[in-house]
Amino acid sequence: MISVVTTKVEVLGLLPIAGRTAVVPTMGALHRGHAALIEGARDAVGSQGRVIVTVFVNPTQFGEGEDFERYPRTLESDLRMAESAGADVVWAPTTDEVYDTDGVAAAITVDPGPLGTQLEGASRPGHFAGVLTVVAKLLLVTRADVAYFGEKDYQQLTLIRAMATALDLPVEIVGLPTVRDDDGLALSSRNRYLSAEQRVLASRIPTAMESGTRAATHGAEAVIDAVTAALDDPGLDIDYIEVRDTDLSPAPPFGAARLLLAVRVGDTRLIDNVAITLGGAS
Ligand code: AMP
Repeated sequence: MISVVTTKVEVLGLLPIAGRTAVVPTMGALHRGHAALIEGARDAVGSQGRVIVTVFVNPTQFGEGEDFERYPRTLESDLRMAESAGADVVWAPTTDEVYDTDGVAAAITVDPGPLGTQLEGASRPGHFAGVLTVVAKLLLVTRADVAYFGEKDYQQLTLIRAMATALDLPVEIVGLPTVRDDDGLALSSRNRYLSAEQRVLASRIPTAMESGTRAATHGAEAVIDAVTAALDDPGLDIDYIEVRDTDLSPAPPFGAARLLLAVRVGDTRLIDNVAITLGGAS
C-alpha cells in the first residue's frame, strides 16, 4: 500500500532503509509521462530503495495571470497512478508546510542566473527562481539520493542540474525522454485544458518539430523558418521558437543542438523541445 504524507516531520520520520531514496517531484495531475519517471526511479533503486513522489502545485513558480488557481488537482487518481508505477510514498504538502519560514528566511531563494531570464524565463519572470527553490527544498527534506525529471521541461532540467552542481547538492539528477501521445503531442497536465478543436491544432506542434528536425542539415535559421511556417495558423500564437546548444548556450554552427518552442493555443501555453543535429551528422 502506498503511504501518503503531508508534513515535513512525517517525511523526515520515514523509517531508515537499506537502499537509496529516489524522488520524483511533480505538480500532480499525473499522466504516463510522470509514470515513466516513477518507473525509472523504481528501476534505479530496486526493491531495497524508496521512491517518493511529491505532489505540490507550487505557487511561487506561477506568475500573475497564470493558471495557478485552475491547475488540475487530482490527488485521488494521482495516488493510484503513483502506486501502480511503483512509488512507496506520496508527499503532498500544503503551501504553508513547504513555506514555513518567515522573516529573513522567507525572502531567501535560489537565483537561477542569466539562463533563468531566457526562453521560458523571458515569458515567465520569476518562474525558475520559484522552481529551483522548491526543488531544492523538496530534495533536501526527502534526503533524495537521486531525482528524476522529464526532458519535456528541458530548460528546467538544465537549470536543476546546474543548481545541483552549483550548490553541491548531494543528489544525482536524472533526465528521461518526453512521453508523447499517439500523434506526437507531448503529454502534459495542461493538455486537459484544450477543447477538441484546440487539441487537433496542438498536434501541429510535433509535426512542426519534425519539419524543423528535417531542416537542421541547413542550419539553425532553416530550422526556425521551417517550424514557423508549419505553425502558421490563426489559432496558434507562437511565444518563441529557438535553437540552442544542448546546454542552452547559443547554438553551435553544426552538431548536437536543441530546438525549443512555446506556443499558445487559446488560453493554454504548451512547450516542447527535441534534440536536433545541425549541419548534418557530426
Ligand atoms: P509537472 O507535474 O508538469 O511539474 O512535471 C513533473 C515532472 O514530470 C517534470 O520533471 C516534468 O518534466 C516531467 N514531465 C512532464 N510531462 C512529461 C512527459 N510528457 N514526459 C516525460 N516527463 C514529463
